[in-house]
Amino acid sequence: MAKLIDGKAIAARTREQVAADVAAFEQQHGRPPGLATVLVGEDEASRIYVAGKHRACEEAGITPFGHVLAADAPATDVEALIERLNDDDAVDGILCQLPVPEHLDGVALTGLIDPDKDVDGLTTASAGRLALGLPGLRPCTPAGVMVLLDEAGVSLTGARAVVVGRSNLFGKPMAQLLLAADATVTVAHSRTRDLAAVCRGADVLIVAVGRDRMVRADWVAPGATVIDVGMNRSEDGLNGDVAFDEVAEVAGAITPVPGGVGPMTIAMLLRNTLEAAELRLARTGAAA
Ligand code: NAP
Repeated sequence: MAKLIDGKAIAARTREQVAADVAAFEQQHGRPPGLATVLVGEDEASRIYVAGKHRACEEAGITPFGHVLAADAPATDVEALIERLNDDDAVDGILCQLPVPEHLDGVALTGLIDPDKDVDGLTTASAGRLALGLPGLRPCTPAGVMVLLDEAGVSLTGARAVVVGRSNLFGKPMAQLLLAADATVTVAHSRTRDLAAVCRGADVLIVAVGRDRMVRADWVAPGATVIDVGMNRSEDGLNGDVAFDEVAEVAGAITPVPGGVGPMTIAMLLRNTLEAAELRLARTGAAA
C-alpha cells in the first residue's frame, strides 16, 4: 500500500513557517508584507476564493488589500488600478482573480502586473524567468507540488517524471520546475499516443487533466510516486484524475483528493508574497 502524501499537514506546516518568517520580516522592516487582490464583478465562486485568500493572509500576518470593481468596469479602470498597485510600496504581491467578465482580457490584465509582484507567477515575464532558470516567482500549484515531493523524500535527480497536461497554469511550469531539479521530463497531453504506457514509464507521475479518475492501476509502475492535481466534482463528491483506491495498491506514494495538492496552492501564494517582499527590498534596498 502506498505511503500517503498528506498535503493538508504539509500545507499547514508551510503556512506556520511563512507566518514565522512574516513576523521576522515585519520586525526587520517595520511593516508586514502586503497582498493586493483585484476582483472584477460578482462571480460567487471568485468572491469566495478571494475571501479565502484574504483569510489566509491575515492568519499569516500578511496585509490583504482587497479591490472590488463593478462587473461593467471599463478596462481602463482595471488597468489604472493595477498600475497604481504596481507603484504602491505597501503592496508586495498583486493577483487579478480570473475569470474576469467577458468584455475584459484576463491574460492582458495579468500581463500588466509588475513581474516582481506577480505572486501567481503567470505573467510572460515570470514564465520566461522560469524557462531561463532565472530567479522569479513560480506558479503556486506546481511550486506546491515541488514542496510535496521534497517533503515525501522523492529524489528527482535523473528520475523519469511524466506530467500529464500542458496548461500554462500548471503542466508547462511543472515540467520546467522538474527539469530544473534534474528530472528527465516527459509532458503528455490529449494527443499523446498510448498514454497508459507513457505513464507506466514514470518514476514520478503528475496528473493535471480534469478527467475524473482517468489514471488506473495498470497505468502506474509499482513503487512510483503519484501526484494527483485534478479536481473533479461529481455526485459522489470531489475526485482527482487518479483512481485513488486501486492506484494506492500499486504506487509507492500518492496524494489524496481532497487533502493533497489543493491545500498547497494557498500556502504557496503566501510564501510567494513573502518572497516577493524580500526580493523587492533586496533589489531596491528600500524599506517602505
Ligand atoms: P486545462 O487547462 O484544461 O488543461 C488540461 C490538460 O489536460 C490539457 O493539456 C489537455 O491536453 C490535457 N488532456 C485533456 N484530456 C486529456 C486526455 N484524455 N488525455 C491526456 N491529456 C488530456 O486544465 P488545468 O488548468 O491544467 O487543470 C487540470 C486539472 O487540475 C483540473 O481538474 C483543475 O481543476 C486542476 N487544478 C487544480 C489546482 C489545485 O490547486 N489543486 C490548480 C490548478 C488546476 P491538450 O493540451 O492537448 O488539450
